[in-house]
Amino acid sequence: MPEETGAARRGEKSRAVYALRRLIAPVLDIVLPHSCLACGAIVDAAGVLCPACWEGIELIGPPCCDACGLPFEYDAGSGAVCGACAKHPPPFGQARAPMLYSAASRRLVLSFKHGDRTYAAPAYAKWMVRAGADLIDNADLLVPVPLHWTRLFARRYNQAALLSREIGKLSRLPVDATTLVRHRRTRTQGVMGRSARHKNVAGAFSISARGAQKVARRRVLLVDDVMTTGATVSTCTKVLIRAGAISVDVLTLARVPAPSG
Ligand SMILES: [Zn+2]
Ligand SMILES: [Zn+2]
Repeated sequence: MPEETGAARRGEKSRAVYALRRLIAPVLDIVLPHSCLACGAIVDAAGVLCPACWEGIELIGPPCCDACGLPFEYDAGSGAVCGACAKHPPPFGQARAPMLYSAASRRLVLSFKHGDRTYAAPAYAKWMVRAGADLIDNADLLVPVPLHWTRLFARRYNQAALLSREIGKLSRLPVDATTLVRHRRTRTQGVMGRSARHKNVAGAFSISARGAQKVARRRVLLVDDVMTTGATVSTCTKVLIRAGAISVDVLTLARVPAPSG
């Protein structure tokens, strides 16, 4: 049959192209220009930002709040926590992020979240592994903050799950992206204050009785793109602890400098 022959030929051709691509990938890596992780501009190396996108990125280093990772201007001693954590102790153990969520990093995070720049995940994961080295040492399992299925359908990918997968490859920790579920769609939290955010996400996440077996007696490292007031990760932490997790720490790509409220 001529049609079958045509389809078979096309299949053979695409297999041949795929094999050729695999063979010459290292060469392509040298010949083709690399793209900036955030804006797509041409840069010298893979996995970096262009100078314009680097400008204004504020990396987080010690000293910082022992609980939420908020950077301190001076060293307040080991175990010191910020005012917000002293007032409302978070349910999670420690939260860490490689950079502050600023106007500059916002562009980077949004292009990753909504702009299909999924190729940036391995580089961002490397930054996160560096910032969260202690947390990774103390974890048994990576769990991404889930999206509601309608959002996942619209976006086609969960940025937190992509980061978890890459962190898992670097740290050799297993990833569980199915046990924790966002069963209620929450409103976008952009302009909400602390208590509105907590109300918005209260009861939005759950774990089935069967899923609980996967997190029970495990030290969980929860992964997300941005920590704002900590409302989302706190709600997820409580659900994981109720399901039997021993402890929950939080690793995000960026965090808001000083949570309001
Ligand atoms: Zn750029
Ligand atoms: Zn704090």
